[in-house]
Amino acid sequence: MATTMDKGATPQNPDKPLGLTVLGATGSIGLSTLDVVARHPERYRVIALTAYRDVEGMLRLCRAHQPQIAVLVDSDAAERLSQALRAEALAIEVLTGAEALVRVAGLDAVDYVMSAIVGAAGLAPSLEAARCGKRVLLANKEALVMSGALFMEQVRKHAALLLPIDSEHNAIFQCMPPGFITGESPAGVRRILLTASGGPFRNMPLDQFAQVTPEQACAHPNWDMGRKISVDSATMMNKGLEVIEACWLFGLPVDQVQVVLHPQSVIHSLVDYQDGSVLAQLGNPDMRTPIAHALAWPERIDSGVQPLDLFAVGRLDFSAPDPKRFPCLELAYAAWRQGGTAPAVLNAANEVAVQAFLEGKLSFDRIAPVIEASLAGCSIQAGDDLQQILDADQSARLVACEQIAIKPRRVML
Ligand code: NDP
Repeated sequence: MATTMDKGATPQNPDKPLGLTVLGATGSIGLSTLDVVARHPERYRVIALTAYRDVEGMLRLCRAHQPQIAVLVDSDAAERLSQALRAEALAIEVLTGAEALVRVAGLDAVDYVMSAIVGAAGLAPSLEAARCGKRVLLANKEALVMSGALFMEQVRKHAALLLPIDSEHNAIFQCMPPGFITGESPAGVRRILLTASGGPFRNMPLDQFAQVTPEQACAHPNWDMGRKISVDSATMMNKGLEVIEACWLFGLPVDQVQVVLHPQSVIHSLVDYQDGSVLAQLGNPDMRTPIAHALAWPERIDSGVQPLDLFAVGRLDFSAPDPKRFPCLELAYAAWRQGGTAPAVLNAANEVAVQAFLEGKLSFDRIAPVIEASLAGCSIQAGDDLQQILDADQSARLVACEQIAIKPRRVML
């Protein structure tokens, strides 16, 4: 049987540094990735960096990491970046448009692709990285939620190596039996336990949910993250997306994936084996740990993360999530059980609802009802080709916009 060690064309101790593309370089995961990479210039060379339109952020990264290519999807922003790079005599090629994301994910000089664009926009370049047989470091869970069957098929067909960056899935991967390959069912595992902090509203009275502001929702107690995933954590849709992600990555039925509230975010997840052993991965809540793990796997490298001080942590608490408080979690389980394009609909409706909430056009307590109505209002297809998935995404966005009474925006997928 092939093992993960045979896959992904990833030489250890290579003679020359491994080429890296960071998709979503200006974001929270992108910056943490580049922080780890900068600690190991002998191992990694940045080939391409991408973002949507953050010119200043990209310029700083170009100075620090000297990529060959910088992509800004927005064409005006790309033009401003080109001018700024010329003014500083930095010879970096600037590309624009969503197709440029796909191009830099598949370049021959690239060995590893960090997939850290937020939302459905990350799907096409992540699929391309898999199709080109790269080591795919997957933070963009939305891509897997939308197109899990297709994605895993591309990974298998092109001998890509898929390593999870989400701290929970990375923890589970670390606790899996030796030789485990993402997408296959692990031997001897009874269930996996996904931990969840419960976000900032774990104890807030339910009748205050309608008044929650974007600033409150984005103030996560343990993790410093982008705004969309912060809201997803507050509704626990993030955990719902992660349940779906876990089913694809670990080849398990959904009733073997259990969510456990653990407010300290020190245990990042656990694997419960048939012999009664429960293996867990612990660490400070800092994404540089899973990033460094996936970059160096199967070796270990310094990530810059402080050692865990268990005396300072003191205690570890666990409880079951309350479905009344977190209806989004139940919606995600239901979408997975429905199958086909239902998870793509769930994801797209959630993206629209979260964006509307962040822009002050939807109250926090209406996020779940908008998603539920979108799932009810879209016809669910088998989802076995990419076009069906993209169509499902677009229909869900239209239905969700109707629910909120806002104009639909075009999303380039
Ligand atoms: P951020 O919002 O911090 O960063 C998003 C990045 O994606 C930015 O570089 C942004 O560019 C770029 N981007 C946004 N929209 C587009 C688009 N339409 N086309 C191309 N690029 C785009 O997000 P995070 O880093 O927090 O999250 C990234 C992914 O990682 C998400 O899928 C999230 O669920 C996942 N994740 C994040 C964790 C975290 O701790 N942050 C933990 C686990 C998973 P620009 O800056 O120009 O807008």
